Formats: sequence, C-alpha cells, structure tokens
Amino acid sequence: MAKNTFEAPNLSVEDLSKALYETSIHLQQANEKLRMQEKERLEFYANISHDLRAPMTAICNTIEYLESTDQLSPEEFKTTLSLLKNRTQYMKSLINDIFLLSSLESSNDKFHPEPVDVCFFLEDYFYSCEADSSYEQCELSLHIAEDLSVASPTLQLDPHLMQRVLDNLFSNAVKYSDETPYISLSAAFSSPKEITLCVEDHGLGISEEALPRIFDRSYRVDSSRTPGEDSGSGFGLSIVKTIIEHHGGSVRCESTLGTGTRFLLTLPLT
Ligand code: ADP
Repeated sequence: MAKNTFEAPNLSVEDLSKALYETSIHLQQANEKLRMQEKERLEFYANISHDLRAPMTAICNTIEYLESTDQLSPEEFKTTLSLLKNRTQYMKSLINDIFLLSSLESSNDKFHPEPVDVCFFLEDYFYSCEADSSYEQCELSLHIAEDLSVASPTLQLDPHLMQRVLDNLFSNAVKYSDETPYISLSAAFSSPKEITLCVEDHGLGISEEALPRIFDRSYRVDSSRTPGEDSGSGFGLSIVKTIIEHHGGSVRCESTLGTGTRFLLTLPLT
C-alpha cells in the first residue's frame, strides 16, 4: 500500500504569517458582509410585518364597524366596501411582490429568458401604454437610436419580467409627478456589447440623501407613507434591480429634486 507522504511547504515564517494575516482580513470582511446581510434581512421582515399589519388592522376595524352598525345608508355602505377593497388590493399586491422577490432571489424558476428583438419589444410596450387609460393624462415619448434600430439586435430577455420592470418605472413616473406626467422611453448602444434603456420623467425627483438607498428592499423615501389607492408595495425598485441583474445587467438612477428622474438599465448583448 502506498504511504501518504507529507511535504512541508517551502515557505518562510514571514510568508506564512503574511498569508495568515491576509486570510484573517478576508474572514473579517466576509463576517462583516454576513452581519450586514443579516441586518438587512431583519429590517426586511420588520418592514413586511409592519406593512401587512397596517392594512390588516384597517380591514379588521372596518369589519367591526360594519358588525356594530345596522344603520348605514347605501352611500356609506358603498364607501366602506370601497375602503375594504382598497386595503385588500394593497395587501394582495404586497404579498405578490414579496413572493416574486423571494422566488427570484432563491431560484431561477421564475426566470424564463428567450430571444427577443429589443426594438420590437420596446415599441410594442410603448404602443400598449399609449392605448392604456392609466396613461391617458401623460405625455409619452419613445426614442430608439438609429444604429440600434438598424441593427435591431436580439437579446435573451424574459419578456414578462421585463414588462414588469417597465410597468414599475412607468407607474412610478406617474405616481411621483405633480403635473401632467411626462415619460420618455429611450434605448441606445452604450458600448458595442451593451444596450442601455432609459426611462425618464419630469416629476418630483429624489433627494441626494435618498438616492443611494432607493433600490434597498427595506427602504422607503417616505417611511410615514400609509397605504392608499395609489400607493405601491414599496418593493418595486428592488424587484426592478433583481430582474435586471438576473439578465446580467445593471440599473442606476439619476435624479434632481424638482426636476425629474432617470432610470438607466444596461443589458448585455448575448
Ligand atoms: P413605492 O413606489 O411602492 O414606494 P418603489 O420601490 O417603486 O416603491 O420606489 C421606492 C421609492 O423611490 C419611492 O417611495 C419613491 O419615493 C422613490 N421613487 C421611485 N421612482 C421615482 C420617480 N420616478 N420619481 C421620484 N421618486 C421615485
């Protein structure tokens, strides 16, 4: 039977202590990263619990109110029902978003890329928005750079998830605008191997302090926001970021308070 032999590495004590020191630095960094992730995870659960509790309490209170009174006018009854409907719709969208976000983060089951002609996809999306009554008060514009239009490249995209991305950016552009919302969708080559899509609005803008955190799952610009007819789940931009990263791309935001916001989505050409 062959004997196991151990060959001492040809390293000096200095080399070994340097390697040990570098390993301990890496371990410390990994530890810190884990600590931050754990903190983010706890904040995420605290936020979900808070966000679910608020509409749930409102629903319970409304039901108790309905139980305790038998003298509601038809008008009051209608208003109360519409309140219940809003709260339940908000909860439904919140639960759907949490489910989508966690499925995207835990596996690739929800990600179904296929070859998609990007110019055709953007035009199709844009014209469907023009026909959509949610955008009838908006000024919409589409610009596809000429060289992109001529090349008309095919990208590996999940069309449903990409539509979700654009829906989120378009609906935010409307939600965070005071006057007639302006939304521009544009696309161009940002390098020979990348395409950048841009969704721009002339709305309220985002403050410098808030900007670096808007994609965090646990962050809201306005933390006192209460669910109402127009409020989203607060997970929209985290979902946008997660979807774009699944496509091997990246997303960034440029914004000036009172002037407007621009979301830039960079996608690799495959
Ligand atoms: P939600 O809109 O449901 O709060 P999002 O994740 O979509 O959640 O957005 C996070 C925050 O970023 C919003 O609360 C809002 O303050 C800010 N934001 C997003 N898009 C825009 C925009 N186009 N203009 C101004 N603020 C925006």
